Amino acid sequence: MSQEAFANRMLKGVGVSSGIAIGKVYLLERGKVHITKHSIKPEQVEREVLRLLNAVKLATDELNHIKQSIPDDEMRKHAFIIDAHMLMLQDQFFLREVIDTIRKEAINTEWALEIVVNKFLVSFEKVEDLYLKERGRDLEHVYQRLLRMIVKGKESGTEIRNIRGKVIIVAHDLSPADTIQLNLKKTSGFITDVGGRTSHTSIVARALEIPAVVGTANITGMVRNNETVIIDGDAGVVIIGPTKDVEKEYMAKQLALNAQRRDFLRVAKLKSETKDGFKIKVGANIELLAEMDIVERYGAAGVGLYRTEYIYLSRKTLPTEMDHYHIYRKLAENSAIKYTTIRTLDIGGDKFASEIEVPKEINPAMGLRAIRLCIKEVDLFKAQLRGILKASVYGPLRILLPMISGMEEVRKAKAVIEECKEELRAEKIDFNDGIKVGVMIEVPAATMITDILAKEVDFFSIGTNDLIQYSLAIDRINEFVAYLYEPLHPAVLRMIKKTVEDAHANKIEVSICGEMAGESLYVPILLGLDLDELSMNAYAIPRVKKIIRGLSHNYCKDLVKEVLEKDSAKESENLVRQEMVRLFPDDFAKNFKP
Ligand code: PEP
Ligand code: MG
Repeated sequence: MSQEAFANRMLKGVGVSSGIAIGKVYLLERGKVHITKHSIKPEQVEREVLRLLNAVKLATDELNHIKQSIPDDEMRKHAFIIDAHMLMLQDQFFLREVIDTIRKEAINTEWALEIVVNKFLVSFEKVEDLYLKERGRDLEHVYQRLLRMIVKGKESGTEIRNIRGKVIIVAHDLSPADTIQLNLKKTSGFITDVGGRTSHTSIVARALEIPAVVGTANITGMVRNNETVIIDGDAGVVIIGPTKDVEKEYMAKQLALNAQRRDFLRVAKLKSETKDGFKIKVGANIELLAEMDIVERYGAAGVGLYRTEYIYLSRKTLPTEMDHYHIYRKLAENSAIKYTTIRTLDIGGDKFASEIEVPKEINPAMGLRAIRLCIKEVDLFKAQLRGILKASVYGPLRILLPMISGMEEVRKAKAVIEECKEELRAEKIDFNDGIKVGVMIEVPAATMITDILAKEVDFFSIGTNDLIQYSLAIDRINEFVAYLYEPLHPAVLRMIKKTVEDAHANKIEVSICGEMAGESLYVPILLGLDLDELSMNAYAIPRVKKIIRGLSHNYCKDLVKEVLEKDSAKESENLVRQEMVRLFPDDFAKNFKP
C-alpha cells in the first residue's frame, strides 16, 4: 500500500478538552499484568494474605512518593486525586472481601483480587451516571497498580518522568497518578482509548487547558512512537499521520483559536454590562472544587450553581457534616469570587449514590428526588445544611433548594434549616444567621406560584434543563425527543417572564442556571427579560460576556417584545438568529455553533 494510504487517518472520540494540538506521539504502554491463577494449600493461605497486605503497603508508599514529587506546580493542585486512590487502596471493606476470598476459596492473591474487583466493576457498570461509572475506572487503576506490586514488586511508571521534548501522550487509559506525574511543559495533548468527560484525566486536561480526546477505542493500536498526530479537542477528532497540507490547515486553525482564546480571556476580566449600562451578573456552574481555577480564569463573578451531588457520588460512604464543611469553607474563603450558591442534594432522578436508599422507580425523574428525598431523610439533609451553615461565617454562601413544586416543601425545608441553626446556637457554633435561602424554579407548578414563593425566599434560580423537560414533557436524556427541546418555546418564555416579574415585584433577584444561560444565541432574550444573573459552564463565560457588552438593553427589550408575539419556537429562533448574525457577524456566521 502506498504511503498516502496511511496519511490523514481520522479517528473519532470524545473531545473533552478544547483546543488543537499538533505533535509527536509518546506511546505510554503500561500493559496489563498477566496473572496466574492457582489453588493453594491451607498452610499457604496466610502467606497469600501477607502478600496482599505487603503489596497494599508498597503501592501506598509509591503513591505517597508520587504525590511528594509531582514535577509541576499546576499539577500539585490536583494531588487530591492521588489521595482518593490511596483511600481506595486501603478501603477496609474491599480488603476484607479479598482476604475472605483467599481464605474461603483457597486461591492465590492475584486470583482473589481479580474476583473481587470484577464483582465491584460489574456494579459500577450497571450505574447509569457517567461520573460514577468513571469511578469504576479508578478502581481498575488501583487494581492494576496492586497487581504490578504483587507480581513485580515495583511500579514501572517512572518512564513518564523521563519523557524528552514536547509530546502528545497516547495511552489506553491514564490513571490520575500517571497524569499527575507528567511534566506539563512537555505535554501538548492527551489521547486515550477509553474514558469519558468526567474521568479525572478529562477534568485535569480541561483545568489546565490541554487539548484532549478520549474514548477513541483503539488509538494505541493505530499509532507508533514519534508519529505525528493532530488533536482537535472541540470536534473530538484525532488525525494520524497528517499530510503537510492538513498540518498547515490545522496550524492555521490553532493560531485562530489561540487568538480567539486570548481575546476571550481579555473579555473575561471586563464588566458584564450592556452598552447602555444594564448590569447582569455572570456566574459559573460547578460540580467539583477542581474546577475553581477555570472559574476564576474565565471571569465568573461567583458560583451561581454548585451541584453538590458530586460530593455524594464520588465516595462510597455518605459525606459527614465535616466533609461538607471543609468543602464549602474552601469556597467561602475564595476571595476571587463574590458569592457561592450551594444547591442542596439533588440526588435521585438520573443520579444516585450507593449509600442512599432510593426505591427503584419506574419514572425516577418524577420520583423521590432532590428536596423530596431530603425532607424525608432529614439526617442526610441536616448533615449538609449544618456543614453549609458552619462554613457560612467564612464568606458569602447561599443555600439553593432544588425541585421545589409547592409552598409546603419550602416551609418544611426552611424548618429544617431553622432546626440546624437552633442546634448550632445551643452548641455555641458560629454561623451566618442571615444566610440567603433560594429555590430552583424548575417544576412548571412553581412558575405558577412564583408570586407566593417570592414572599418566602431570598432569591430564585431558574433551572431551564428541568423546566423544559417537565413543561414540554420531553425526557432531557432521550435523544429521540431532543429535537423538541426548545428554550424559545412560547410556554418557556412566558414562564421565565412571569418568574422574573414576580421576583422583582417582591424585590428578590432571579438567575438562570440551566444550559440555556450559557448559549450566546439566547443572551439578548435573557437580557431583555431582565434576569439578574446568568450562570453557566465557565468556558461559556467570555463569549457570553462579549455578547452582553455588544448589545444594548433597550434593543433587547424590544426584541423580547417581538419574540413574545411569535407563536412558535422556530419562528422566534429564526428571528433571533437573524438578528445575531446581523449584529455579530464574526460570531454567528453560518456555521457558527453558539
Ligand atoms: C436545571 O435543571 O436546569 C439545572 C440547572 O439543574 P440540573 O441540570 O442539575 O438538574
Ligand atoms: Mg434541575
